[in-house]
Amino acid sequence: MGEIKKIAVMTSGGDSPGMNAAIRSVVRTCAYYRVDCVGIYRGYQGMIEDDFIPLDARSVKGIINKGGTFLKSARSKDFMTKEGRKQAHANLKERGVDGLVVIGGDGSFTGGVVFNKEYDFPIIGIPGTIDNDIYGTSHTLGYDTALNTTVDAIDKIRDTASSHNRLFFIEVMGRDAGFIALNAGVGAGAEEILIPEEDLGLERMLESLERSRRTGKTSSIVVVAEGDRTGKNVFELAEYVEENLPEYEVRVSVLGHMVRGGNPSCFDRVLASRLGVKAVELLIDGKTNLMVGLNNNKVATTDLEEAIKGSNEINKELLRVSDIMSI
Ligand code: ATP
Repeated sequence: MGEIKKIAVMTSGGDSPGMNAAIRSVVRTCAYYRVDCVGIYRGYQGMIEDDFIPLDARSVKGIINKGGTFLKSARSKDFMTKEGRKQAHANLKERGVDGLVVIGGDGSFTGGVVFNKEYDFPIIGIPGTIDNDIYGTSHTLGYDTALNTTVDAIDKIRDTASSHNRLFFIEVMGRDAGFIALNAGVGAGAEEILIPEEDLGLERMLESLERSRRTGKTSSIVVVAEGDRTGKNVFELAEYVEENLPEYEVRVSVLGHMVRGGNPSCFDRVLASRLGVKAVELLIDGKTNLMVGLNNNKVATTDLEEAIKGSNEINKELLRVSDIMSI
């Protein structure tokens, strides 16, 4: 592999707070090492449609504190085809790009690995997703911000819950991973937390709510991850509880996409800055097919394929803590 002279950076898949800070870090690290840098709009789709923009240190000013991604993000069906990837490769070559930083989730990394296998194109991944479901890093970009946003929202809902003696079911994002639900649930003092990784059973939830009521609790919060394993969605869960515990007045709140937006937390800004520096340095050192992440608060690398295949274990201790706290 020859010397790296130009690096492209893009954001792909679902957006997450901290993506802008990561782009800024990649661009400024390139400037520091005197490597040219270009941004690609709309992820792989922009790569295919030749939607590039030259970036220098000044073009990323004022974005470290902004949520979302100024390069936009997209899902690209065309990149799933050989013809699409051929066009993408032709565009990169035409523009003299010889290394790529992909900020995204495991789907985006899969696209990167496929592309690397076909064209031997150097690729480094930065994990950007609020779900924290990527193996090889204790934190993905945006997860910390999403936790804080979720806790904030639950705190506000609790004001209403306690003023009206209500039971609130609050659904948070997390189709396959309960990291947000579990951590924000404990952080916001939820009585029950339902996550995809554990099926604690509906009976147990009823018992716990009944016990809370008997011991004098007048309002309660149950945090439910989108993909929880009870087999009921959050509205059906609320109905189920109303039928079985008619003394409760039940309400539902779905936090949805608001959890994905907002200014990144200090933690996410620092993480983005560290991962961006490492990503560029790895490319300059001739490395490829690696994801940069955090391990014991040190920047660490994981083989991209391992990061895609592996899964992060939920912290069972937190479930126990939550159980004890809801006494
Ligand atoms: P999120 O965590 O938000 O879902 P993600 O990166 O996992 O983010 P995906 O939609 O799964 O998001 O993937 C983003 C893009 O990566 C896809 O739209 C597609 O262009 C590309 N991609 C995913 N899998 C493949 C694949 N097997 N081959 C080629 N490209 C792929």
